[in-house]
Amino acid sequence: MITLENVIYSYGESSEQIKAVDELSLTIEEGQHVAVIGPNGSGKSTLARLLNALLIPQRGRVLVDGMDTRDKDKWWNIRQKVGMVFQNPDNQIIATSVEEDVAFGPENLGLPPGEIAERVKEALSLVSMEHLKDRAPHNLSGGQKQRVAIAGVIAMRPKYLVMDEPTAMLDPQGRREVLAAVEFLKKKGMGVIFITHFMEEAASADRVLVMHRGRIVLDGEPRWVFEQEDLLREINLDIPPITALANDLRREGVPLPGSLLNVEELVDALWHLLN
Ligand code: ADP
Ligand code: MG
Repeated sequence: MITLENVIYSYGESSEQIKAVDELSLTIEEGQHVAVIGPNGSGKSTLARLLNALLIPQRGRVLVDGMDTRDKDKWWNIRQKVGMVFQNPDNQIIATSVEEDVAFGPENLGLPPGEIAERVKEALSLVSMEHLKDRAPHNLSGGQKQRVAIAGVIAMRPKYLVMDEPTAMLDPQGRREVLAAVEFLKKKGMGVIFITHFMEEAASADRVLVMHRGRIVLDGEPRWVFEQEDLLREINLDIPPITALANDLRREGVPLPGSLLNVEELVDALWHLLN
C-alpha cells in the first residue's frame, strides 16, 4: 500500500511559490490500477515523483509499504518497489541491444547471471518484445522503445508501476502496443498508476483520480468520474470520446443508458435498442 498524508510540495523556496502538490492525502492499494488525469500543471508528474522518493514532501509524508520516503536509508528499497516509466522512450534507453537494456536494472541489483537472464526473458515476453531482443533499441519504433523501457522496469520486479504519460509521444499504433502491454501486466496482478491525458485510457482503470491545482478533485470509478461532466469541463478536461458521442445521441433522443465508456458498451446499448 502507498499512503500520502497531507503532502505538500512546491518547487523553489519562496512562499509565493504555488504548491505543485497541495495537502494531498491518498491511499493506493497493491494491485490496484489507478489512472491519474488533470490539466497541464495540475501536479500529476510531481505526484508521480513523490511516490518513489524522487521528490520528498516538504510537509506531510509518503509511505510505501510502511517505508517513509523522508528516510534516506529506505530510498533504494522504495525505488525498487515503485518502478517508473516516463514519457520520452529515448531518454530511457541505455544499452546497445534490447536484451542488454532490459538487463541493466537487474544487473544493478547485483543478481546472479542466471537470474538476470530469466528476468530479462520474462520481462520481454510480458511486453511482447522477445523476438526483437537482439535489435538495437535506437532503431525501434516509439511504441517498441517504450515497451523496452517498461520491460527494463518490470525486470526489477517492482510491486507498483508508475507511468507518467507513457503514450503521450507515441503514434496511434505505438499507443495501442503500450496499452496492450499495460493491460497484460494488470491481468498478471501488477498495480499500475497510469498518468494520461487521453480520457479513453483512463476509462479502463479501476479508479480514476482527477487532479487540479495540486489537489484531487474527483476520486472514484471511471463511470462515476466521467458522469461529472460539468466539473470536468470547468477544469478543461474532456470526457472519453465514446462517452461524449453517447451523450450527444441521447440529446438527439436516442434512449441510451447513462455513461457509456467504450465502443463495446455503446454497441451493446444500440443493439439492445434495435432488438
Ligand atoms: P503536470 O504533470 O500535471 O503537468 P507538474 O507536476 O509537472 O504537473 O507541475 C505542477 C506545477 O509545478 C506546475 O505549476 C509546474 O509549472 C510546476 N513545476 C513542475 N516542475 C517544476 C520545476 N522543475 N521547477 C519549477 N516549477 C515546476
Ligand atoms: Mg506531467
